[in-house]
Amino acid sequence: MFFKTDGRPFIAAGPCSAETREQVLETAAALSQIGVDLFRAGIWKPRTRPGSFEGNGEVALQWLKEVKEQYNLKVAIEVAEPAHVELALWYNIDVLWVGARTTVNPFQVQHLADALKGVNIPVMIKNPVNPDVDLWQGAIERFEKIGISNVAAIHRGFSTYNSSSPYRNQPNWPIPIELKRRKPELPIICDPSHITGRREIVADIAQKAMDMGFDGLIIETHPRPSEAWSDAAQQITPQALQTLLLELVIRRQHTEDMSKFTELEYLRQLMDSVDTEIIDLIARRMELSERMGLVKKECNMTAYQPDRWREIVETRGDRAASLLLSKEFIVSIYEKIHDESIKKQLAILQREQNEVKD
Ligand code: PEP
Ligand code: MN
Repeated sequence: MFFKTDGRPFIAAGPCSAETREQVLETAAALSQIGVDLFRAGIWKPRTRPGSFEGNGEVALQWLKEVKEQYNLKVAIEVAEPAHVELALWYNIDVLWVGARTTVNPFQVQHLADALKGVNIPVMIKNPVNPDVDLWQGAIERFEKIGISNVAAIHRGFSTYNSSSPYRNQPNWPIPIELKRRKPELPIICDPSHITGRREIVADIAQKAMDMGFDGLIIETHPRPSEAWSDAAQQITPQALQTLLLELVIRRQHTEDMSKFTELEYLRQLMDSVDTEIIDLIARRMELSERMGLVKKECNMTAYQPDRWREIVETRGDRAASLLLSKEFIVSIYEKIHDESIKKQLAILQREQNEVKD
């Protein structure tokens, strides 16, 4: 398995863009000393607006060939068109990645997969820009289906309109976690560079990814980051990468310590019974909600009562805060519960109308 390393994270690093032959070779020289698993460099850049640097194209493939020959590094590029795939194969690129803006488009993803029929090259698929786990899974499966046996997912965060967010792309961790639940064998690599957009917090997100059990990291690296032609604010020097990797705490999925294992098992059993209680309580709440629906039906009242909902948000939020729980978190759970209650009550009101019609 190309992306599986024994107990340590798979590390891909390299510049956002291959800018010049010198910059590519200088970065590769430094990274080969650190011992990364894969050298990344974009040669066709999906830029938001025209006029910014859109990559050097084919000429940069020659530079990557030199990286392979001189430094014995495996190299990866982004492909967004079947023509890119053809050129990448022609120049013996080792690994391909599909960018976030391509993953959103199943037609384009299928075109790329079709261009790879009969070729078994490792492919990394970035999450789509919108937080849609099905779309991400679908893109991955298009490559698996044509016979690519080494597929990895890259979590690079999701677009947000929230201008106060500290991140360039919101991490939204439950999405990659759900992908891993659905596909336990799929390696998931975290891209803290594109999540953060700021080199100062790249290491924090890299550590968080390790704490969550991600399989690897892809980190943008440039000899002079602030002079980079693209993504200047998020790239780090090879030296900074080396420090980041040295300081990274690698956690394990399991423990051989029997007493800790037993303690965890005990806590899990307690948690199982708390969860059973939570579900039983929700069932009781729904039952009350249905009884209220019947009363509302008799009085010809609406299912949704804005004042009552406001009161629920306030009191449950305050209760959460008094127990040191996040208000926002508890209210978001109540939004779901309330929505389900209203659905049940609407069904009761609807039943009334149908009975009248009959
Ligand atoms: C990149 O890796 O340089 C890139 C363009 O990434 P994304 O598709 O995640 O925006
Ligand atoms: Mn980039």
